[in-house]
Amino acid sequence: MPESDKTQSAKSGQGKSERDWKQELSPNQFKVLREHATEYPGTSPLNDEKRQGVYRCAGCGQPLYASGTKYESGSGWPSFWEPLPEAVETSTDYKLAYPRTEVHCASCKGHLGHVFDDGPQPTGKRYCMNGVAMTFDPAEKSG
Ligand SMILES: [Zn+2]
Repeated sequence: MPESDKTQSAKSGQGKSERDWKQELSPNQFKVLREHATEYPGTSPLNDEKRQGVYRCAGCGQPLYASGTKYESGSGWPSFWEPLPEAVETSTDYKLAYPRTEVHCASCKGHLGHVFDDGPQPTGKRYCMNGVAMTFDPAEKSG
């Protein structure tokens, strides 16, 4: 295992002001990625996305999840049991009465969703993502 010696050298997106983000993102994307809003469950077209491919951050394009780790959690939000290596970071969110683990893009720090401990094996994690905070990049157009 290579030692993780990359000390937060994330550049892309870091120099952007909130005003820059507001111009680049759609209103809903801005609310979720920059203001930690949560989309209404069941509203994202990514819920039904079944193709092979990669889910990317809607803010900076960083690959976040492979389609092979997506599963149907029944929550109404796109759910994954494992992110790509070093794709996301977490922090503790005290907005509700109980602390939750907030998930954000490791590159632009945009808010993506939360992670819970009731996911499937092999990780047991449920990365509960806002579909609006991601874009899907299909591996093949046909099919
Ligand atoms: Zn990002």
